[in-house]
Amino acid sequence: MCAETLLGGIEFGGTKIVLATGTPDGKICEREIFPTTAPESVLPKIVDWFKARSIQALGVGAFGPTGVNPDLPSYGKILSTPKQGWRNFNLLQALKDGLNVPVGYDTDVNVACLGEAVFGAARGLDNVVYLTVGTGIGAGVLLEGKLQHGMLHPEAGHILVEREVNDPWQQTKCPYHQNCLEGLASGPAIQERWGLPAVELTEKDEVWELEAAYLAKALSTYVMCYSPQRIILGGGVMEQKQLFPLIQQKLVAYLNDYINTPEIEDIQNYVVPGGCEGNQGILGALVLGPVSYTHLRAH
Ligand code: ADP
Ligand code: ZN
Repeated sequence: MCAETLLGGIEFGGTKIVLATGTPDGKICEREIFPTTAPESVLPKIVDWFKARSIQALGVGAFGPTGVNPDLPSYGKILSTPKQGWRNFNLLQALKDGLNVPVGYDTDVNVACLGEAVFGAARGLDNVVYLTVGTGIGAGVLLEGKLQHGMLHPEAGHILVEREVNDPWQQTKCPYHQNCLEGLASGPAIQERWGLPAVELTEKDEVWELEAAYLAKALSTYVMCYSPQRIILGGGVMEQKQLFPLIQQKLVAYLNDYINTPEIEDIQNYVVPGGCEGNQGILGALVLGPVSYTHLRAH
């Protein structure tokens, strides 16, 4: 059992909320899942669950857009969502009031990036991009050991990408952008383009050639803008492992020797799957709460 310091973590999603307790060295002790119902019904359940377990700190990874800059009035709020009762709801304050422990707050993808950097495929690295390709596409960004925020926070899943000339589908799944990565390459985009869920398209080479082209275009932009030492790809769509070599080859081709680093030369260790068995989000949340990432790295 978990006798030592007990930490709490929350992966706060639009459909489900995953709670866990664990230890600072990345052992998950208990886990619970609640559907994302209205705040007044689910928040007391979350608070009671953690209170019963005497956690010493809590970390939250929330779906975006959400306020992650402590200096702004939007800090800790879910900013724009169709979910009943959650729009502009101050999630961070409600948890702090309910639990009386230090609470760390960041985006779901930043927290997953932290999990990979502390425990997973980016261990020991200070400059990391974590991209999830699932129902949506989002990126967490760690630079010089700090999770990136800024004016709001990066929304690197919505960067515009040039449409492939052989894309048989002229639509998009993003309500905001005609040609953004999420609109063209998310799981729902694959399903609508090809008429079957992505998981049933494994044998269709053209599906993954096209998907890899869009993802590699986005990755080349991240390489240029963030200069990460490694890029981790997660989310349901990346269960299609045949995507990795395709993306690696296309990224090298798009960079075209302009970026010439040992990391890019070792492309198989540059674009990689996650190393936390799918637990990067909850592990990152656990360690977000108590202390800064820099402090953790000192251990
Ligand atoms: P979410 O993004 O909702 O948190 P996921 O990361 O599992 O959850 O993403 C769900 C999307 O990923 C769906 O569109 C689904 O079609 C796709 N997906 C899930 N599993 C697979 C798989 N094994 N292969 C390909 N696509 C998958
Ligand atoms: Zn978009």
